[in-house]
Amino acid sequence: MYSCTYSFKLLMKIIETTNISKRYIMGSEIIDALKSVTISVDKGEYVAFMGPSGSGKSTLMNIIGCLDSPTGGRYVLNNNDVSSMSENELAEVRNKEIGFVFQTFNLLPRQSALENVALPLIYAGYTKSQRTEKAMQTLKNVGLENRAHHKPNELSGGQRQRVAIARALVNDPSILLADEPTGNLDTRTSYEIMELFDQLYSKGNTIVMVTHEEDIAKYAHRIVRLRDGLVESDKINATPTNPREMAKMFAEKTKE
Ligand code: ADP
Ligand code: MG
Repeated sequence: MYSCTYSFKLLMKIIETTNISKRYIMGSEIIDALKSVTISVDKGEYVAFMGPSGSGKSTLMNIIGCLDSPTGGRYVLNNNDVSSMSENELAEVRNKEIGFVFQTFNLLPRQSALENVALPLIYAGYTKSQRTEKAMQTLKNVGLENRAHHKPNELSGGQRQRVAIARALVNDPSILLADEPTGNLDTRTSYEIMELFDQLYSKGNTIVMVTHEEDIAKYAHRIVRLRDGLVESDKINATPTNPREMAKMFAEKTKE
C-alpha cells in the first residue's frame, strides 16, 4: 500500500491582458498611451508596475481597475472578459473585484474610520449590523480596531492609509490595486504600509502596485517595467526588500 501526498500550487490567472492598446485622440494629435501590452498576473502574486512618467502606468492601471476600456486587445479579469463591457457592467465588476488604494487616501472626512470602511458594503446589500461587524473585523486585520470611531483628521497619515486599505479589502476583492500608496507618507510610515502589504500577501491577497520609485517597487515579488506604452521587462524579484528590517535600520539610524 502506498500513500502519496501531492502538493499543488494551483495557478489561477486573475489578470490577463492580450495586446491591449489605448489611443487618445486630441484634436489632430494621436497619443498611443499603450501600444500593445500582454501580461498576466496569477492569484496571490505581489507585482509592481514601474516606469517613468508618461510610460502608460496610469492608463494601464485604469484599464486593469475597470475604470476605463482599452481601444484594442482583450482583457480578462477573474474569468470575465471586460474588454468591451458597458460603463454599468464595468462598475459592477469593479465593485466586486477591485479594491483601490490611492496616494491621497480618499477617505470621507466627516465619517469615522469604521463608517469609511463599511461604505462599500452598502452597495453589496448587507444589513447595517453585518456591515459594522465586517468593517470592524477588517479594521482589526489592519491593526486599527482601537481607532474605529476616529475621523480621518484625528488619525496619522499611516493610520489613514490603513483605513483606506481596510476599505479596499472589506469586500474581499480579487485584487488590491494600489497607486503610489506611499507617495504621501514619510519614510518610517512607508515601511509600516509596506509591512502591511507583506502581511496581506502572506495571507494570499493579490497585490498590484503602481510606483515610479525604485525603492518601493523592490518590496514586490515581481517587477514589470513599462516604457513608451510597452512592457520593457518583466522579472521576478527573488530578493524583495523586508520592511521590518528597513524599519529596524531606520530606528537605529535615527537613534544616533
Ligand atoms: P504614467 O502614469 O506612466 O505617467 P500615463 O498613463 O498617465 O503615464 O500617460 C501615458 C501617455 O498618455 C502620456 O503621453 C499622456 O500624456 C497620455 N495621456 C494619458 N491620459 C490621457 C488622456 N486622458 N487624454 C490624452 N492623453 C492622455
Ligand atoms: Mg501616472
